[in-house]
Amino acid sequence: MNRGLYEADHEAFRDTAREFVIREVLPHLDRWEEARLIDRGVWVAAGTQGILGLSGPSDFGGADQLSDYRFRNVLLEELAEVHATSLSSGFSLQDDIAIPYVAALGSDEQKARWLPGMCSGELIGAIAMTEPGTGSDLQGITTSARPTGDGWVVNGAKTFITNGIQSDVVIVVVRTDPGGGRDAFSLLVVEEDMPGFSRGRKLEKIGLHAQDTAELFFDDVVVPHENLLGELGAGMHQLATHLPRERLSIAAHAVASTRVVLRETLEYTRTRRAFGRRLADFQNTQFVLAELATRLDVTQAYVDASIHALNAGELTAVDAAKAKWWATDVQNQIVDACLQLHGGYGYMTEYPVARAFQDARVQRIFGGANEIMKHIIARDLVDRPDR
Ligand SMILES: Cc1cc2nc3c(=O)[nH]c(=O)nc-3n(C[C@H](O)[C@H](O)[C@H](O)COP(=O)(O)OP(=O)(O)OC[C@H]3O[C@@H](n4cnc5c(N)ncnc54)[C@H](O)[C@@H]3O)c2cc1C
Repeated sequence: MNRGLYEADHEAFRDTAREFVIREVLPHLDRWEEARLIDRGVWVAAGTQGILGLSGPSDFGGADQLSDYRFRNVLLEELAEVHATSLSSGFSLQDDIAIPYVAALGSDEQKARWLPGMCSGELIGAIAMTEPGTGSDLQGITTSARPTGDGWVVNGAKTFITNGIQSDVVIVVVRTDPGGGRDAFSLLVVEEDMPGFSRGRKLEKIGLHAQDTAELFFDDVVVPHENLLGELGAGMHQLATHLPRERLSIAAHAVASTRVVLRETLEYTRTRRAFGRRLADFQNTQFVLAELATRLDVTQAYVDASIHALNAGELTAVDAAKAKWWATDVQNQIVDACLQLHGGYGYMTEYPVARAFQDARVQRIFGGANEIMKHIIARDLVDRPDR
């Protein structure tokens, strides 16, 4: 079936992305996994090649493709081809979250300060919502910002922050009103050289080994007024506005990487032999592969439709939640079944399917746990009288 998602411009960009991945990413992947960190150089190389900053406005060094997610999706697919999952997640944080936040909420002065560096890869962005004591329930955030004459004094801690160690610009969700409800939160941009801002451990994970995930600490950090992103007290609303794009990016990544794992598994079953036959000749293998391919294609159709909806400005929080939980659940089911078809080799980390298995697990947790996605969908079903 022809997906019909892309046009000639996207395929031309695919050539650029593929060439970049082969030259700048593939030779370093194993080293990054072992070092548990990705070189900053690849960020700058990506900026130079126009691989990064796709969502940035052209006035500030971006490619002006905020409204066409298909370019980002091409890049997700090309990084998935080589299983560059950690890098893909770091770039996604930058291009699907940090840059769109600054582009949409920033003043002209803020955009001029941060966007050119973020699009060129010289400034790495992060978003810090989760805290040691709260993740799913963001209203439980305790990191505080107390007003002073010059701005705010920030105190608290965040954890599990993607790009945390290397980030230069961190969008931090803080409580600006100690007593308030939903309007008690704001977004402050903390910069890497601000006194009192420090990084904790780089966290050891079961997968996404090269991805930089860290704790961040704020100890009387003075953040000037000029670093308030968007409106005071509108933090939760601003997060809600931007989460559909983040969740769709997770779903799109799930589909892209699963397709590669499935294809490689098919090739494996064509060559591996048991009981005098190819694995692919057993009816069980054929039925499993048929089920997996169907499940993936049907999932892809929903994700592709969601990409069109995002481009049209019509992707709702509910539809993004459906895409996120479904695609990541399907990813985990398929990758697990593919590992099984590899037998013992599937358990060896030198085989891509083993790493894909490790990397896939977090997809059901970050960006909002899948249970929270179901909560969003269910609330819409139950509470809307027109249903
Ligand atoms: C590798 C990685 C990268 C991450 N990157 C970032 C980042 O860049 N920035 C950031 O801010 N955060 C980041 N996170 C944090 C991530 O978003 C949170 O881990 C996630 O939202 C879940 O929060 P929690 O870990 O506090 O789990 P909890 O909120 O403690 O929830 C634990 C489990 O309880 C269940 N649960 C919770 N609430 C409900 C409910 N209402 N109904 C039913 N079940 C429920 C779910 O099964 C959930 O998984 C990252 C996490 C990881 C692992």
